[in-house]
Amino acid sequence: MDNHFCYSECFLCKKRYRVGPNIYDGRRIPAYEISICMLCYRSNWDGFTKVDAEKIEAHLKANGLHIPKRNEKGWLPRDGEFKLVEIVGIDFS
Ligand SMILES: [Zn+2]
Repeated sequence: MDNHFCYSECFLCKKRYRVGPNIYDGRRIPAYEISICMLCYRSNWDGFTKVDAEKIEAHLKANGLHIPKRNEKGWLPRDGEFKLVEIVGIDFS
């Protein structure tokens, strides 16, 4: 029962990581519809820079997904951009 996992490939670094019950070697980012390894996820806590940001933006564009604004550092926010106004139609800001 300890071997119930499979592998997924990190969207950014292309390394394989394990996916399964109680295994947290990677993470899905719903806003971008990608999965990345925990090393990439943790090391980009303050946003994706240059090559990674361009790779994600190209993926978003190709799939017709929302491209969030860059953060104050000019980097792509790691978990996307939550826009409540787009979901409920009321601007709470
Ligand atoms: Zn990675």
